[in-house]
Amino acid sequence: MQGFDKCPVCSGEIQEKEVEKLIRGGVHTAILRVSAEVCLHCGEESQRSRRK
Ligand SMILES: [Zn+2]
Repeated sequence: MQGFDKCPVCSGEIQEKEVEKLIRGGVHTAILRVSAEVCLHCGEESQRSRRK
């Protein structure tokens, strides 16, 4: 099991954040909250799909 990763771009510190994603489907718009890992240094955002 891997611990916290570093940014693949700049090896900076990564913080997990909750970001909102907008999903459009016809007339319906849904906002989905997903957790993404955002680099504090360069802003690179890597999203992880976690399966439990
Ligand atoms: Zn970075």
